Amino acid sequence: MRTRRGVCYPDVDDCRQMMKTVFIRKRRCDSRDEIDFTGHKRRRTGSDKCFRTDYFDSLPDDLVISVLCKLSSSAERPADILNVLSTCKRLNELGLNLLVLSKASPKAFEVRASNWSDSAHRFLKNCAESGNIAASYTLGMIRFYCLQNRGGGASLMAKAAIRSYAPALYSLAVIQFNGSGGSKSDKDLRAGVALCGRAAFLGHVDALREFGHCLQDGYGVRQNIAEGRRFLIQANARELFGAVSAPPSPAPGSLVSWNPPEPHPANRFLSEWFGERGGCPGEGLRMCSNEGCGRPETRKHEFRRCSVCGVVNYCSRACQALDWKLRHRVECVPVDRWIEEEGDGDVADGVNDAMDES
Ligand SMILES: [Zn+2]
Ligand SMILES: [Zn+2]
Repeated sequence: MRTRRGVCYPDVDDCRQMMKTVFIRKRRCDSRDEIDFTGHKRRRTGSDKCFRTDYFDSLPDDLVISVLCKLSSSAERPADILNVLSTCKRLNELGLNLLVLSKASPKAFEVRASNWSDSAHRFLKNCAESGNIAASYTLGMIRFYCLQNRGGGASLMAKAAIRSYAPALYSLAVIQFNGSGGSKSDKDLRAGVALCGRAAFLGHVDALREFGHCLQDGYGVRQNIAEGRRFLIQANARELFGAVSAPPSPAPGSLVSWNPPEPHPANRFLSEWFGERGGCPGEGLRMCSNEGCGRPETRKHEFRRCSVCGVVNYCSRACQALDWKLRHRVECVPVDRWIEEEGDGDVADGVNDAMDES
C-alpha cells in the first residue's frame, strides 16, 4: 500500500521484525549498541547486518503521527507521552506535532504542582495553541489563579468557553459572580448567570446547582423558584448517577457513603499549588473551603462566608452545597452573637440560606 507521498508501507513481516528489534532506542546508547524488545541492551555483532536497516525510519510520518494521536488521546498520565518523546529525536519531533497535541487527553498534561517547571508550562502552552480546549482551560486556570496573570488566564479560559467547554464556562461564571481579579464593583451577575446557564445546559453539575440557586434566589436573574428547583433536582440526579457508577470507597472522614465527584485536573492542581504554600494564597486571602475546588480569593473578603458559623467561605453556592453534604453540616455551629441577633431559624435553613456576603 502507498501513502499520499508515494512511499510504500513496510509489509507485515518487516513490521514484526521491526517491533522485535529497533523500535525502542535510547539516545544515550552507543551507536553500536542495540536494545531488543525485552529492553535488554546488547552489542551488535557481524551477524547482525539486518539491524543496520532501521525499519522505523522507513515508516512514513503520517502513519507514526496517527499512532501517536491514539497514544496521546488515551494517555493515563503525562509519563505515557513523555517516555515516547524521550525515545528518539524523530519521535520527539513527531510527538510534538500539533495534531498529536490537539488530541491529548486531560490526563496527558495533568502535571502535579510540585513538578511545575518552565518545560511543563511550555508543553501545556503548546497543547493549548494546538487547539486542545482542555489544555487551554487548565493553563488558563493556572495562569489566572496561581501565576496571577489574570488577563492571560481569562483569555485562555474564554477560548475554551467559546468552544462550549462546560468547565471553562462555569469557571468564567464564578469569576463574573465574584468580580475575581478586580474590585467588588467588577461583579457582573447577569454575565455570570448567562455563562452558568450555558454550562448548566451542557450538563455541568456545579453549574446546574449554581444556576438553580440563582433562579430560586433571583440572583442576577428573575426569580423562578419552580424552575430553580428543577435544576437542583437535575444536579442531584446527575451527582447520584456519578456516585452509583463509581466504586464505593468514600474518603476517610466523609459523611456520605458515596464518592464525591472527582475534581477537574485544573482544580486538583490549584489545591496542590496552594496546599504547598500552607493553604495561604496571600496576606488576608482565603481559599474556598470546598476541598476539591482549590480556588483562592483574589482580593480580601471576595468569597461569601457561611452566615451560620462564619468560619468557612466559598467561591460559589455549588461549592457550599457540596461541602455541606460532605463535611460542613456536622461542623457548622452558630456563633453566639448571631444566635442573639438572628435567632435559631438560620440553622434549620441549611445550605440554601447559609451564605452571606463578607
Ligand atoms: Zn469553590
Ligand atoms: Zn457554617
